[in-house]
Amino acid sequence: MFCLVARTFGQIGISVIVPLGKSVIAVYIALAIQLIVVYGIMLRGFAGLSLTRYIKKLSPAMAIAFSTCSSAAALPANMDLTINRIGASKDISSFVLPLGNTVNMNGTAIYQGVAAVFIAQAYGIPVTPTMALMIVLSATLASIGTAGVAGAGAIMLSMVLHTVGLPIEGVGLIFGIDRIYDMGRTAMNITGDSVVAAIISKQEKEFDEKIWNTDFAKDE
Ligand code: ASP
Repeated sequence: MFCLVARTFGQIGISVIVPLGKSVIAVYIALAIQLIVVYGIMLRGFAGLSLTRYIKKLSPAMAIAFSTCSSAAALPANMDLTINRIGASKDISSFVLPLGNTVNMNGTAIYQGVAAVFIAQAYGIPVTPTMALMIVLSATLASIGTAGVAGAGAIMLSMVLHTVGLPIEGVGLIFGIDRIYDMGRTAMNITGDSVVAAIISKQEKEFDEKIWNTDFAKDE
């Protein structure tokens, strides 16, 4: 991965490291907020579940998503853990997870938003409130259409740039290091699907508390 990234720096120059590094940090901070604040509040508020315990149980699937950068590749592990370690209903998970895998990509939407602002700044284009709103809307729509494979979000980013009137060539600025963003956003994409399956199972009273309260780590 670092060999691929080295090519970008070789072509554009070392001075680009600082702004690109800042954009990577911005994406990961936004993903952390999504995980801790949004998923944390949703789990606690709608299902009474602890986020730390949830992450502990789902971490093997998150690790697969993080390393493969493909939510499609992580789907079998996500289904297995959401049903057999977290306690979500099999029927609900069998519907929610494959559907969420294709349309629910929070991490990708976050990344496309930050990347669009980064490209606007790189070209010296001011981001007006209207443009910011357009970025939010088009990034949400583009993320729905993004496939669950590595790098798909960066390709769909060109659609966001086109919609808000930013130069499409800007994608080239971040494409070289896309893998770094992709690891985090894919992990967040699959976590969102699992969280929704667990919340719906809980609300439909089909959540298995016994599985949730079992400490699987001890058996391994
Ligand atoms: N790699 C992401 C996924 O599979 C999609 C993307 O590139 O944003 O979920």
